[in-house]
Amino acid sequence: MQQGFTQTIDGRGEGSPTSFDVINPATGEAFARCPDATSEQLDRAVAAARRAFLAWRGTSQEQRRAALQAFGAAVRERTDEIAALLTREQGKPLQRAKEEIQRALANLEGIVANRLETEVLRDDARGRVEIQHHPLGVIGAITPWNVPILLAMPKIAQALYTGNTIVLKPSPYTPLTTLLLGEIARDAFPAGVVNILAGGNDFGRWMTEHAGIDKISFTGSVATGKRVMASAAATLKRVTLELGGNDAAIVLDDVDVKAIAPKLFWAAFGNSGQICQAIKRLYVHENVYDALCDALVAIAGSVRIGEGFEEGVLLGPVQNRMQYERVLELLADTKRQPGVRILCGGDALPRPGYFIAPTIVADIAEGTRLVDEEPFGPVLPVLRFRDVDDALRRANDSRFGLAGSVWSADEARAKAVAEQLEVGTAWINHHLGVEADVPFGGFKESGIGREYGIDGLRHYSEVRAVSRPLFPPRPAAPGAKP
Ligand code: NAD
Repeated sequence: MQQGFTQTIDGRGEGSPTSFDVINPATGEAFARCPDATSEQLDRAVAAARRAFLAWRGTSQEQRRAALQAFGAAVRERTDEIAALLTREQGKPLQRAKEEIQRALANLEGIVANRLETEVLRDDARGRVEIQHHPLGVIGAITPWNVPILLAMPKIAQALYTGNTIVLKPSPYTPLTTLLLGEIARDAFPAGVVNILAGGNDFGRWMTEHAGIDKISFTGSVATGKRVMASAAATLKRVTLELGGNDAAIVLDDVDVKAIAPKLFWAAFGNSGQICQAIKRLYVHENVYDALCDALVAIAGSVRIGEGFEEGVLLGPVQNRMQYERVLELLADTKRQPGVRILCGGDALPRPGYFIAPTIVADIAEGTRLVDEEPFGPVLPVLRFRDVDDALRRANDSRFGLAGSVWSADEARAKAVAEQLEVGTAWINHHLGVEADVPFGGFKESGIGREYGIDGLRHYSEVRAVSRPLFPPRPAAPGAKP
């Protein structure tokens, strides 16, 4: 049992009076204990972040960029150690864990290359008005368990780069790698600038209620996002909510099936389907439907599933028991639907841990749980269409609106369809990924606000108009003495 993981509060490492088990999803067994933060520790972390804010907000953007880059370099040096722990706590293959860290570091570099500058709105006969971006104060960041480092890093980078300080809480399912980030942050930033505490859902609620936190940057499910927003209302905290998705990919009739099948497969099954913007509904034109289903099934059959440390493994387990049971429940419901065909998979693998075989479901339609809900597991429903307007209407008929994609040999045709998707990101012949200079976020119940890009930085800032109006002299009143 691995012990000794510490939280970061006011620049120092701290345990907690109590701790909880962290489970390896590939075995279903506990492999480490994690400190379970108290509300007193949260109070101290917030107080430290408030104190640190007073000096940190006065540093220049260049100083903050340099500090974040030094932090990134220190994280890079420990990539192998963090990646191994990520595989153990999250379940993903080791190579994918390394890629997650590398992508997170590339995003950090990209974020600090973005520039949120003071804008001069006017400087003329009416006076001079500057639009300045002022940091908010203490950011409370809350992350989920699917890509813990990839999601924690941009929150730290955006919060700090805009002059805020941060108190961050990872998911209790995958807390350990984020605690390591905190350990590294102790040497990279002044005490109190970065605080990382581990706790469960109650701890998250305490953060949303805390009067010393100015904004919550939350990534997680729609249901929790709504709770976060309701709770943040009491102190009028700003919120950014990056929530779930049920992304549709629409495949037109002119595609090269062989060429796109691997791209579609990995956009649906990468990280065992546990990506907010993974393809979760695949709409395929009837002319290419059977060929594409066959190609996807062939890929599913060739992919090695297993423990992330095994050579050649490309897909790991579902991350936790609750999610595993939920996906199996959706599969049981799917099997009860008349006419639905399970083309491959459909069951848990007969081994310890939370493994589910990659599952492709054909001849399924809206009105079923698998299509209407976000499965967040290795299961893909493939829906048939004849008319592209019908596919668009069905794709948009969802309370989610995170991302989507359109696939065609004719890029202009694909773009015309993509522009009608009610989503925060619409891809053409591609699906998945974030870029540090491109704003990312959801329409509808997939979220509020944006991360990444200049829009992302704006969401970590308050706008202040600094105005020196020059009013024209008033005309003298009739009869007034000069
Ligand atoms: P979750 O909502 O259950 O938990 C997310 C985090 O919120 C955890 O740290 C949890 O402890 C905390 N939490 C739980 N209850 C809380 C409360 N009342 N107040 C404050 N915090 C609370 O989500 P999950 O199951 O960990 O993650 C999966 C979900 O995250 C999926 O829906 C997925 O689509 C979504 N997600 C979205 C994005 C995005 O960028 N849009 C990225 C990754 C994952």
